[in-house]
Amino acid sequence: MIQQTAATRGMQLHTKILLGLAIGAAAGITANVLWRESQTIAWIVANVADPVGQVFLRLLFMVVVPLVFTSLVLGVAQLGDLSKVGRIGAKTIGFFLLTTGFAAVVGLFLVNTFRPGEGLDPGVRAALMQQFGGQAAEKATIAETNGFGIQTFVNIIPRNPVDAAAKGEMLPLIFFALIFGVALTRIPAEAARPVLKVLEGVSYAVTVIIGFAMRVAPYGVAGLIFAVTSRFGFEVLQSLGWYVIVVLAGLAFHLFVSIPLLAGTMARVAPLDFLRRTRTLMVTAFSTSSSNATLPTTIRTAQQEFGVPREIAGFVMPLGATMNMNGTALFEGITVLFLAQVFGVGLGLQQQLVVVAMCIITAVGAAGVPGGSIPLLVLVLEMVGVPGGGIALILGVDRILDMSRTVPNVAGDILTSLVIARSEGYDLVPLPPDDDITVLERGEEPIGAEPDPL
Ligand code: ASP
Repeated sequence: MIQQTAATRGMQLHTKILLGLAIGAAAGITANVLWRESQTIAWIVANVADPVGQVFLRLLFMVVVPLVFTSLVLGVAQLGDLSKVGRIGAKTIGFFLLTTGFAAVVGLFLVNTFRPGEGLDPGVRAALMQQFGGQAAEKATIAETNGFGIQTFVNIIPRNPVDAAAKGEMLPLIFFALIFGVALTRIPAEAARPVLKVLEGVSYAVTVIIGFAMRVAPYGVAGLIFAVTSRFGFEVLQSLGWYVIVVLAGLAFHLFVSIPLLAGTMARVAPLDFLRRTRTLMVTAFSTSSSNATLPTTIRTAQQEFGVPREIAGFVMPLGATMNMNGTALFEGITVLFLAQVFGVGLGLQQQLVVVAMCIITAVGAAGVPGGSIPLLVLVLEMVGVPGGGIALILGVDRILDMSRTVPNVAGDILTSLVIARSEGYDLVPLPPDDDITVLERGEEPIGAEPDPL
């Protein structure tokens, strides 16, 4: 009985989220075309659309730290054997690097073939530089302050894991969780068991919170999309049309062709099935523009839609949200070459290989938040002799591109978990469609369902 109700509710949720996206986008674009300067629209954005979107975003962000910590610790502890953890870790990171590198090469191929930077009108270039020059300077300052060098790697080890978690610094948090999980496998089982039990309870509770967040998703998605589309400067899109088309085509190719084909060949999941089962995930990534905010949905999708075992999903996904950004690498590759073309900087094969390497490294280092890759992109530009301030040219369209690149970023994480699960000999059996109820093992009753003893 519960199963049936839950199944119906689950199906409705997919559809509702898609509807939220469609309605938000249609209303936002209409408002943009007809009443862009209107005070009423500004009021609706500030008092309705944005707050509703923020509620959804915050519900997701709220669980990211406990989710990353518990999934990784439990993942490592459940994998148990350290050589297995090492093997899976190496395979996971290796697969991330391969797919990210492939995506960057696809980007470079497209930008070299279609050369969107060569036809850009100098008037448009000057206007964009003037309009977005200030914002570009801010990004360049962030890039300079953070820099990139040996310290970047040292910083992965946190001085204080709580401080790292509070600041949302994912790599140090991941590092601490991994070490903590490994340590738990090294202490006597009776000492480790209660810790694991607590973390398991936390992880179940977090899953239920994610279920709540997903119920708000249709409204949140509509709010976020309305806020973006109603204020977006579509003219900028027009002036950079060719560049935008090349980026979107590259992302679409990676998302709809490369990733599903890899899922089919390496994980034996039919390509169309892959796309169908990741619908909700894609809409969440698109509307939040953040791999971190999408992480709760990514873990949920891997487990429920594809039957990826908990220890694999819990291990691969937190790493993926931070380190695996196929779409970002593809976008970076195209953007560096596009700006090089605009500024007349010739980049030979050797320099383009440096670009590919830098795209991979910065995609790993970029934070999974909206615009997380932009400061690092400035660094790549300067490294190959393209003016970093040139980033001003694309800032006006970055929101749309950011939303779009976040989708293959998270789809790549799902793909990796499938490939890793298969390579470890796991069967992938999707769970029956439902909502937060599946977190309970069969036969277990939630505490709230126990009859009151009094
Ligand atoms: N928004 C992207 C993500 O969260 C990062 C980026 O490319 O800026 O995956």
